[in-house]
Amino acid sequence: MGDKQAAGEQAVTVIGLGPMGQAMTRAFLAAGHPVTVWNRTASKADALVAEGAARAATIEAALAANELVVLSLTDYDAVHAILEPAAAALSGRVLVNLSSDTPARARAGAEWAAGHGARHLTGGVQSPPSGIGSPEMSTFYSGPADVFEAHRDTLAVLTGTDYRGADPGLAALLYQLQMDIFWTSMTAALHALTVARANGISAAEFLPHASATAASVPDFLAFYAPRLDAGEHGGDVDNLAMGLVSIEHVVHTTLQSGADATLPSAVAEIFRRAIEAGHAKDSFTSVSEVFRSA
Ligand code: NDP
Repeated sequence: MGDKQAAGEQAVTVIGLGPMGQAMTRAFLAAGHPVTVWNRTASKADALVAEGAARAATIEAALAANELVVLSLTDYDAVHAILEPAAAALSGRVLVNLSSDTPARARAGAEWAAGHGARHLTGGVQSPPSGIGSPEMSTFYSGPADVFEAHRDTLAVLTGTDYRGADPGLAALLYQLQMDIFWTSMTAALHALTVARANGISAAEFLPHASATAASVPDFLAFYAPRLDAGEHGGDVDNLAMGLVSIEHVVHTTLQSGADATLPSAVAEIFRRAIEAGHAKDSFTSVSEVFRSA
């Protein structure tokens, strides 16, 4: 670490030491960046201080320590709970806000920070804590281009960087879209594995089949995405009436296995609504019209 520090790696403050903030602090330290840390529950900094981080006694001291301040908090409520009492110390800081929340809250947060003389980059980290420090992982960024460019190399210590534009809400939006896919598809897979186990098939045994189905999804998406953009829902390849019968079989299999059928039942309900709206003979993608009219 000494050599890199001698070369003048940028000093960073990390606020928020959940699993993510801890992994980020360690990645910065490993790359030779001096790091100052602060966390509401101060004891979470102990191990990091033993590894070379500096502990800030107050949030004001954490902000004063460095121009570049990484925020890794549960959501923007936590960001505001921490920063509002210390708003006078924000002037001149660059806040890289890697806390998850909605695009609207990211835009409002950036505006609030600007009102106190700070500049704000929104980030959406597409990596678990174990992937922090890996260039193959990626983080969406949005906000002022010059701020991103000035700190790109330091941020690249955490993951690969993917700057999407000036709108501070954009990185949050793209992140939430990824989370939409992640949580719903992972929960669907978990449901299938649960039904498998209820039938005496272990999750490990079913895993290759689950993975094969998951691996087929990108090809389906590549086929459907241009049709979706073009509003083409023709039932030449599939139709929703068949889709409803199929998902009802999943519901019944689940119930006969003694497992909870809330998730496939919700899908069946969505398909039914689309059919009632006249899409029985249309492709599965016609469900998108139902989503849009909600
Ligand atoms: P945690 O929720 O475990 O960490 C939360 C941090 O926020 C802690 O430092 C906690 O402080 C602080 N905090 C929460 N509420 C408050 C509050 N009201 N006032 C002060 N501090 C508060 O999250 P992670 O570390 O896992 O993640 C951080 C961010 O990164 C989240 O937005 C998460 O969605 C995002 N993310 C996480 C991933 C993951 O796999 N973990 C993956 C990608 C993104 P204290 O320790 O005192 O409770």
